[in-house]
Amino acid sequence: MEIPFLDLKRGYQKYGQEIEKEVINVLRSGVYLNGPYTKEIERTLASFLDIPYAIGVSSGTEGLYLILKALDLPQGSYVLVPSFTFIATSEVVVRAGLIPYFVDIEESNFNVSLETLKEAYLYLTKRGKKVSGAIVVSLFGIPADLERIEVFCQEKGILLIEDICQAFGAKILDRYVGTFGVASATSFYPTKPLSTFGDGGMVFTADEGIEKRVRILKEHGQTKPYFYEYHGINGRIDEIHCAILLVKFKYFKEELELRKKYALAYIKGLQDLEPELFLPKIPKTYTPSWSLFTVRTPYRKDLQEFLKEKGVATRIYYEHPLHLQPVYQDLGFKKGMLPVTEKVAQEVLSLPFFPYLTSEEIDYVVYWVREFFKRG
Ligand SMILES: *Cc1c(COP(=O)(O)O)cnc(C)c1O
Repeated sequence: MEIPFLDLKRGYQKYGQEIEKEVINVLRSGVYLNGPYTKEIERTLASFLDIPYAIGVSSGTEGLYLILKALDLPQGSYVLVPSFTFIATSEVVVRAGLIPYFVDIEESNFNVSLETLKEAYLYLTKRGKKVSGAIVVSLFGIPADLERIEVFCQEKGILLIEDICQAFGAKILDRYVGTFGVASATSFYPTKPLSTFGDGGMVFTADEGIEKRVRILKEHGQTKPYFYEYHGINGRIDEIHCAILLVKFKYFKEELELRKKYALAYIKGLQDLEPELFLPKIPKTYTPSWSLFTVRTPYRKDLQEFLKEKGVATRIYYEHPLHLQPVYQDLGFKKGMLPVTEKVAQEVLSLPFFPYLTSEEIDYVVYWVREFFKRG
């Protein structure tokens, strides 16, 4: 058997016809930007998250950037970010004239915790540095400890921004990830839980002021026709992507259920392999969106090779922590400074995962992972 890591064409077989019809509608309508489909997907997703405002943007990265620009944080102040994430999380901080400060994670769920954030905050403030914001990621669709982090940030006057690019649809009790803090951004990149066939993103906020500024900034900072009060960007989303998203959203809840079903199947099939193989630990009140299913093992290289021989495709997210990337050398981080991140980066392996896998394929992966550890 050949098990793909991710096969986007399988989903397309299901809703492709509907999507093609809607895309043709857009093409024939003569309206390609800032039209009815954009309004409708903004309204739909704001209502899904139960948050007042949603603004369609050109990508998750630009969404995060627009939030930072809208907040107008003091130039040269620090923004706390995880090191174990996709580079977009920290890239936008630099682009906004701020300094990223990398924070360690918990090995049980891959996310920053209240403790690691607090430690970084104290380290910086003791040295007279100003911490103005924090971008918290719910990596792989597993919620970070957002309830406690939100309270801490409020107490310290740190503006909390959520990067929910991998976690749209995840929740803590009944509160969706993306509704904590002052604003959040998601991505519709093809591999994300709610995705289009290209780039797109959305910003969510309950703050009317932030909503207004993000809308202005994504249109080049224009406040009336061809009149500019701010340094903005071209950060719009296309009508075609919004039409695709409206179709895909109809299947989103069903897809989340399938993701949950397969995650539970992996957990059930693999949970007794500790301490050679670790699974993420999910508190009872958390509902992940399971954008990826990632395990940890000190035998990663051998396991990955073994699975490849058996036809099982796996990937490593993320092998090189951000604090050790060449591009961030000037920030002064050295090997050993974020020990959990560095350990986890050597151990993670993401297994084949998407809603249109079959139970037989999951069983096949579980079988060969177990065989690997049986061999000792
Ligand atoms: C995908 C991703 C982004 C960026 O989203 P794009 O739409 O690709 O710009 C940002 N942060 C995280 C954690 C992501 O996974």
